[in-house]
Amino acid sequence: MTIRQYLMRRCNRAVTGTIAFLVVAGALVSSGPRVFVIRFALAVVITAVVAAAIWSLFEIPCPNCRKPMGRVGFWVANGRMERTAPRCPHCNVTVDEEVPGAPHD
Ligand SMILES: [Zn+2]
Repeated sequence: MTIRQYLMRRCNRAVTGTIAFLVVAGALVSSGPRVFVIRFALAVVITAVVAAAIWSLFEIPCPNCRKPMGRVGFWVANGRMERTAPRCPHCNVTVDEEVPGAPHD
C-alpha cells in the first residue's frame, strides 16, 4: 500500500462515517420534537461533526514521520493529485512510496 492509498482510505472512512452520522441525525431531526431549540442544537452538532470530519483530513498523520500532512494529505486523500506525487511537508517522502511497515497488498 502506498501513502496515497493510505490517505484515500482514511478519506473514504471519514466520508462513510459522516454519511452514516448524517443519516442518523436526519432521522433524529425528523422524528424528534418540533422544538426550535432542539432543532437548532442538532443543527449546530451536525455542522460541528461535518467540519470536524473535513478538518480531520488536514490532520492525517504522515505514516513516515507521524506529523499531520496538512493540505497535501487533504488533496491527495480527495484524489485531486493523481498526476503529481506531492511530498510530505515535514519529511519530504512522496505519496507514491510504500507505507513503512505496512503489509503489501
Ligand atoms: Zn512525513
